[in-house]
Amino acid sequence: MYNRKSSKTIFFTGTGTVVVFIIVYCLLSAISPGLRVSSAEYRNVIVLYLSLFIPLNLISWLCLGQLGGVLILIFSCFFVLMTLLRYGVFDYNIYVPLFCIAAFAGYKILSRLNAFRNRSLAMLEVLEVEENSLALKISKKEKDMEFAEKRFKGYAALKDITEALSSTLNLDETIKLVTSKAFKIIGSDRVFLFLSGQKQQRLTTFDSWILKHRKSLIIQDLDNDFRFSIEALADPADRQYKSIIGVPLMSEKKVMGVLRMDSMAKGAYTQDDLRLLDIISDLAAVSIENSMLYERTNELAITDGLTGFYVQRYFKEALELKVGNAGAQAGRFSVAMIDVDYFKGYNDKYGHAAGDLLLIKLAQAIRALAGEGHVIARYGGEEFAMILPKADKKAAMKISEDIRKGLEKTLFTLRRDEVKLTVSIGISSFPEDGTTAEKLLKTADSNLYKAKESGRNRTWPGSI
Ligand code: GH3
Ligand code: MG
Ligand code: MG
Repeated sequence: MYNRKSSKTIFFTGTGTVVVFIIVYCLLSAISPGLRVSSAEYRNVIVLYLSLFIPLNLISWLCLGQLGGVLILIFSCFFVLMTLLRYGVFDYNIYVPLFCIAAFAGYKILSRLNAFRNRSLAMLEVLEVEENSLALKISKKEKDMEFAEKRFKGYAALKDITEALSSTLNLDETIKLVTSKAFKIIGSDRVFLFLSGQKQQRLTTFDSWILKHRKSLIIQDLDNDFRFSIEALADPADRQYKSIIGVPLMSEKKVMGVLRMDSMAKGAYTQDDLRLLDIISDLAAVSIENSMLYERTNELAITDGLTGFYVQRYFKEALELKVGNAGAQAGRFSVAMIDVDYFKGYNDKYGHAAGDLLLIKLAQAIRALAGEGHVIARYGGEEFAMILPKADKKAAMKISEDIRKGLEKTLFTLRRDEVKLTVSIGISSFPEDGTTAEKLLKTADSNLYKAKESGRNRTWPGSI
């Protein structure tokens, strides 16, 4: 009702109203000549007509606004003036202040309504601004929540992987755990973990890049990556993977390997994924190093530092196990004891350090001559013991003689001299020479003694 009208609407409505009133006025004028100015009917018509202007003034302010209100007021007063001029009656001048009062009332109501409207609009605007800022806050909170949820999931997954990794010291298990957890946490088409210095590993251009730069790598679209050419990939099957993330496995300042994930989808990984993979690789590096250390310590405990053969304790345990198993399965096997002839002489001539070097070379020669499948131990200083599985006395004799003859022909370089050495070997066989580890060792040792006594550089098989 109090909406602002355009000047055009006001003009036409105002003019329309004026025209309607002029027509009414003309009609009244047409019938008025028949009435006497002083007659009661005439008065009633004029009063009725002029009275219509009072509500008209009020309504015009409200409907047509200030401009329309002023127009109608002027028009109303003009009619009073016309009545005065035409009939010369002053009585109706009283309507001029009445119109003014009605117009003033209209004006006041209009101003109130406008003020109210403006206030409401201002309030609406404030509410709109508040609504917008609230919507912004809500969307920010939602994003924060999403981010926090993601972070929480990431931390929970990392806690899970840390717990899992702390439960094993086996290298293979550790590697399996790292790859499976990384796969679960980040999600990929495939996951690789390469360790430096391990055989049978097919490194891609990306792994080499990570190893060389010691930096993480993220590729969103391999087809459009300026650093790598897709043709550089040796295996064409690798070319179907479009997204790649990889991190180096670092221990202190040393690069131990690479942890890499590939996906066939473009843009599969985010910087957040890379950060997670970085943390996983740090955890993995520590665990892998611990597993390696543990395995190395175990190896060191059972192998001899100089020759790499098993230590006597381990050999005896292995022999006892062998006796137990052979007893149960009625299997055959033999034990050979090897002692270097006149070893003291090499020490005396070349020194103890050169003697050690000779022992290392001798061990390598024995390993090569014996072939695979035997348990070989450094039983004493320059004394070695072997378990020859599935070998009866005859087979044991053949293996021992091959070793002895082979060593006899071998030239060892010691301080630029080419030296030769010989060994004496004593054999014992299961079950004929003994059914316990102790008895077998004792028999082999006494047969070795016999080999020495009978002139050295020979194999003493014992009773055949
Ligand atoms: P044979 O066995 O023929 O009777 O004479 P041998 O001189 O070899 O005598 P034996 O086996 O009794 O002596 C072992 C010698 O080997 C004593 C020691 O000088 C030497 N030897 C033992 N262990 C080591 C070692 O670890 N390093 C070096 N360099 N020498 C060792
Ligand atoms: Mg000796
Ligand atoms: Mg000896």
